[in-house]
Amino acid sequence: MKTFGQMNRDELILLKSRLEKEYEDIQKQGLVLNMARGKPDWNQVSLSMKMLDTLNSSQDYSDCKEYFNYGILDGIDEAKTLFSEILNVSTDNIIVYGNSSLNIMFDQISRAFTHGYMGNKPWGQLEKVKFLCPVPGYDRHFAITEYFHIEMIPIPFDNDGPNMDVVQQYVESDESVKGIWCVPQYSNPTGITYSDKTVERFANLNPAAKDFRIFWDNAYILHHLYNDKQDCVGDILSACEKAGHPDIVFEFCSTSKVSFPGAGVAAMATSINNKNDILKHMNIQGIGFDKLNQLRHVQYYKDINGLKLHMQKHAELLRPKFELVLDILKKELGGLDIAKWTQPLGGYFIAFDGLDGCAKQIVKKCKEAGAILTAAGAPFPYGNDPRDSHIRIAPSYPEIEELRQAAYLFTLCVKLVSIDKYLEK
Ligand code: PLP
Repeated sequence: MKTFGQMNRDELILLKSRLEKEYEDIQKQGLVLNMARGKPDWNQVSLSMKMLDTLNSSQDYSDCKEYFNYGILDGIDEAKTLFSEILNVSTDNIIVYGNSSLNIMFDQISRAFTHGYMGNKPWGQLEKVKFLCPVPGYDRHFAITEYFHIEMIPIPFDNDGPNMDVVQQYVESDESVKGIWCVPQYSNPTGITYSDKTVERFANLNPAAKDFRIFWDNAYILHHLYNDKQDCVGDILSACEKAGHPDIVFEFCSTSKVSFPGAGVAAMATSINNKNDILKHMNIQGIGFDKLNQLRHVQYYKDINGLKLHMQKHAELLRPKFELVLDILKKELGGLDIAKWTQPLGGYFIAFDGLDGCAKQIVKKCKEAGAILTAAGAPFPYGNDPRDSHIRIAPSYPEIEELRQAAYLFTLCVKLVSIDKYLEK
């Protein structure tokens, strides 16, 4: 088989007319497909449906009456224990919140602007605040920093995490660099897990800013696709503590893609100093989160082993979807030398890279035939993919037949747009 680069003009034109005909036939079907957002499907959320039967009026709650009242700002002990097992840290370092980890991240940045961290000057009084953004990354992280007018600096990825030489250079030389976004395990969207060396280098940073913080969003810590091949990112909190920088990290996670997105429980792990500082502010912000939902989650999953078993059921539903998309990509695009993509062991995404200058056009062409993809550029600060080559594929939500159609249509669009690119040359 020839690569597109090896085909002559006539061969490319002939192939294009055959593919265009196929594209038009698909367009006529009026499909409505969506591979845009990384949401669990109905079968996945249904796995937790019985959680709704845990708390009920026939249970005896006499030993936890206070869970039904105001208070217990940092979460009920049982939930702290569950998150301490997930994150492998002491319960003393945990705060259990409401339903969303993204909301905690937003609050952390918001507080930095209004009040500052641990006595440091509020960021709102500074001329410039910058954040490092490993790319491609999570669009909603970048949306938060953009919302606060924080200047975002893209950081390239290596195979084992962000390029730490570049990170170190910025963090240690520029006092206006106040944070970095990280999704350290099964990263959104690359699927990369940071190596132990990367974790060590993060922990050993000597930031120019006293209030620099690593935003360690461990959203996919439980989300393995396979039982026998699993990544496990190192524990950042103990690494930072060992390196003598216990306060430089906030670690986040939630059960959004374990139980119910929007109705799960979220938590943060951080140093005792940070925790005390945060609680002072939280004490003004509210009188406690939804402790009954925390209890419901603990009663249902029980402990880390219960969670692991539950996540295997998620994996059984997700794995065939990932494998289907990967098979179609390989069968349709393999050997053409017009694209590469990741083969993640977990998380929610396949990261796809086409030829430079093609991503926007591919997404547009898919949309015109009925398949919605994440907007090209979304995984980059300001929506700007400098090479216009990256597309995030989210296989979890569509049903399997829809996914088959969407993935095939995607490959057809990739071929058509890539042929045009070659013909332009
Ligand atoms: N962090 C990452 C990296 C995500 O991919 C997502 C959801 O896709 C979230 C956070 C959202 O988490 P939550 O539902 O806890 O706000």
